[in-house]
Amino acid sequence: MEVAIMGAGMSGLSCAITLEKYGITPTIFEKRNSVGDRFVNAESMFSILNRPVKDCIPYISKNYHIDLRPIDKVDKFFIHSKNELGTIAGKIGYTNVRGRHESSYESQLEKQVKCNINFNSTYEYEKLCKDFEYVVLATGDGEYASHLGNYNCDLTCTIKGVTVQGEFVTSNPHVWFNYEILPKGYAWLIPFSEKEANLVIAYPDNIKLDLNDMWGKFYSLVCKNLDQNFKITDNFEITRYMMGICNKPKIDNTYFVGNCFGAISPGLGFGQYTSILTGIYSAYDIFGLGTYEELTKPLLKNYKHSLVFRRFLENLTDNEFDFHVKNLDKKVIDKLIDKICSNNSSLDLLKLTTPIMRLWNDYKE
Ligand SMILES: Cc1cc2nc3c(=O)[nH]c(=O)nc-3n(C[C@H](O)[C@H](O)[C@H](O)COP(=O)(O)OP(=O)(O)OC[C@H]3O[C@@H](n4cnc5c(N)ncnc54)[C@H](O)[C@@H]3O)c2cc1C
Repeated sequence: MEVAIMGAGMSGLSCAITLEKYGITPTIFEKRNSVGDRFVNAESMFSILNRPVKDCIPYISKNYHIDLRPIDKVDKFFIHSKNELGTIAGKIGYTNVRGRHESSYESQLEKQVKCNINFNSTYEYEKLCKDFEYVVLATGDGEYASHLGNYNCDLTCTIKGVTVQGEFVTSNPHVWFNYEILPKGYAWLIPFSEKEANLVIAYPDNIKLDLNDMWGKFYSLVCKNLDQNFKITDNFEITRYMMGICNKPKIDNTYFVGNCFGAISPGLGFGQYTSILTGIYSAYDIFGLGTYEELTKPLLKNYKHSLVFRRFLENLTDNEFDFHVKNLDKKVIDKLIDKICSNNSSLDLLKLTTPIMRLWNDYKE
């Protein structure tokens, strides 16, 4: 069976590993020089966003034999609003490195692939369709799906990030919601190590404010909140980062996987877990272990819930964020939230709260 995989990232490599497990050797085409040949950043995977799965990394390893080594487990998550600070504690999820780093998830996946990767590829999708029986589109964005009229873009974002040196607790990422500084956006800090972290802001492209001005204000706020003067050692900027979903996960002999499928949940921009799953599911379909359309149905639903969550977040005011964040550490709520968010629970909070958030969004809009 002749299978071409276009893109050696999270989804493409997960597909390749799975195909190889079932005896199919794919041909992988990667446009860059090497796997993960881009800026280094820190990301996270929170199990609460992937229900009914309780603990995503062991789940992937046990069920799909794909092994990933995170930076650390997240045992406390700090949420900053304009005037409040709240925490969620427990076994929440994991942090990891991406990009040009020896321990990045894509480097780890590459080591689990047996076949060679064709780097610096200029192979066009149309030609791949003619030359191969199946094509797995894993290029990391919705461009191809858009050109094929198969993609609904719900929002595009500007993302700016830096690597900072300072003092960090690797199991404690932070997130900020402060609409006075970052309207409708958010920011996060994820440590790479005890000495280095990634600090990033993301906001919808339709906010027409000066990026550098916004960044300056946010950076001062973080230094103040964490009581540190960081040293910046690296930076990156992305514009028009697409969040959307394809209409059909498979057309003829083409599978849309990872961000080409619509892996990024618009709520908080998590996409790694779905990227891995779509890669695996496309391989299952090729091998006749299920149909891609059926296997991806729960992922599509999850995307829709997450879109409601995005609108809900955008409709909140700083005062409302303060109210919710303050309540996170109130005794009874604290215990309940920690329990639901911990990987001992399989409760799908996003799904359960979607009707309420939808009502709130209708009221606000
Ligand atoms: C700054 C940032 C922070 C993020 N944080 C998180 C987070 O904390 N948690 C989370 O779960 N998700 C996060 N995400 C989202 C997550 O990174 C993506 O959803 C995931 O990497 C998508 O996987 P993929 O396989 O679709 O694409 P990628 O892993 O990006 O791989 C795509 C590959 O295709 C290659 N390619 C592109 N075009 C071609 C072509 N024409 N021919 C051949 N190869 C090609 C690229 O070079 C690349 O190697 C973040 C994204 C960004 C940008």
